[in-house]
Amino acid sequence: MISLQHIRTATAFALLTLSLAASPAFSQTRVSRDPAEPQQGKPQPKILPRPAGAIARQSVDEKSMRGLIGKLVACGTRLTLSSWTDPKRGVGCARDHIAARLREIAEGTGGKLQVVVDKFESTSERTAGKPLPLENVYAILPGSDARLSKTLFIVSGHFDSRPSNVMDPEADAPGADDDASGTAVSVESARLLSKAMANGKNSYRSTILFAAVSGEEQGLLGSTHLLEWAKQQGYTIGGMLDDDIVGDDPAPGAPHRVRLFSGNGELDDADSPSRELARTIEEIDGRGAIRMVFRQDRYGRGGDHYPYYKAGLPAVRFTEPWENYEHQHQTPRTENGAEYGDFEKYLNFTFMGDVARDNAEALRQLALAPAPPTNAKLTGAVTPDAKVSWAADEDAERAGFEILWRETTDPRWQVYDFAASPGETVLKGVSTDNHFFAVRAAGKNGARSIAVPTEMERRPPPLPAGTKQ
Ligand SMILES: [Zn+2]
Repeated sequence: MISLQHIRTATAFALLTLSLAASPAFSQTRVSRDPAEPQQGKPQPKILPRPAGAIARQSVDEKSMRGLIGKLVACGTRLTLSSWTDPKRGVGCARDHIAARLREIAEGTGGKLQVVVDKFESTSERTAGKPLPLENVYAILPGSDARLSKTLFIVSGHFDSRPSNVMDPEADAPGADDDASGTAVSVESARLLSKAMANGKNSYRSTILFAAVSGEEQGLLGSTHLLEWAKQQGYTIGGMLDDDIVGDDPAPGAPHRVRLFSGNGELDDADSPSRELARTIEEIDGRGAIRMVFRQDRYGRGGDHYPYYKAGLPAVRFTEPWENYEHQHQTPRTENGAEYGDFEKYLNFTFMGDVARDNAEALRQLALAPAPPTNAKLTGAVTPDAKVSWAADEDAERAGFEILWRETTDPRWQVYDFAASPGETVLKGVSTDNHFFAVRAAGKNGARSIAVPTEMERRPPPLPAGTKQ
């Protein structure tokens, strides 16, 4: 039974908590009725500054993004089932404009940026059950580091579009937002990063691939093929940034933060590589720019990052803050006074330019970073200290490693300590039970790899014979 006195006390406490939480000074500090951990105080590691030469917002060329989107919309439809050979109408018209724009950008890079048109076939229930010819367009900026150049960071938008009927190659499908916007972000990222490299400030260690893929609306065909292609070329995927529907921001108060979706994975602590990529991007671009959403995609929906996520690779999706479904997947028409269709006039280039900047800056820092550590482990259960160990190849450009921890209920990592070399670090007086742990590599240039969560030491409790663990 709860006494009236108890209720009064509880109410008073709740009010006190409320008023304290509202005061800015209090919000800086954690309510702590828990024992200090570690008891003798946390180490105070020196935090390296982030790499110099950040991509400036004003360097984004919104006019060229608008120009490319206008050309793609003018192709009438970009359904993957439409014509690949007609230069004026159909998906092939879009491929031509994208390849031309990327070649224009590549011209200024002295051959560094390489443009590839990748032709392949694929079948799905949305190709009428027969193999469909498809093409993807890539621009590749090769990494400078002998080993890391086989690590590939991908930014991708899909250039195909669809009308209401996904099998109708005749109907108009302007697809300005879905996904000429993501295509423009990928292409503009190619320009921003090639330019940042050409001015001598950045030498990307890993390889960056700027993709415009087809077949998304027919079943993620182009992005699935890109993953296969990358493997065939001997790359490992360092991270995949899918930009899909990133062009509109109609709610009052725009520009708002872009949403960044990442799947939980299948681990108890929900630390999938995709989640680590999302955290990394948020840390690079800031909480004012990125709204992390801890789910694989919008509710019940899917996109081009999905095949990567399912393969256990780091892959995330950028999407505008608030979607208007009358402007997506709709054959242009007016019905009961409502206008349906994905038109250029609904786009917000201030918002889209922000997205391009944030993609480019995240890719820049990821491609400048050392390789993530491997084999991260946490041991020390039922002892006073947590022990974190990890492995890493030699790397003269690496400053060391940041050991990260977080409350199990917190969404973000914090730096606990710094270690110059791989091996084992004992976290004195830290329980293995109350936090999650991870390790990431930090370059001398200040760029960080994505975090690698420690694997749990399996210590299953004894159970009755015949019980499945
Ligand atoms: Zn889309």
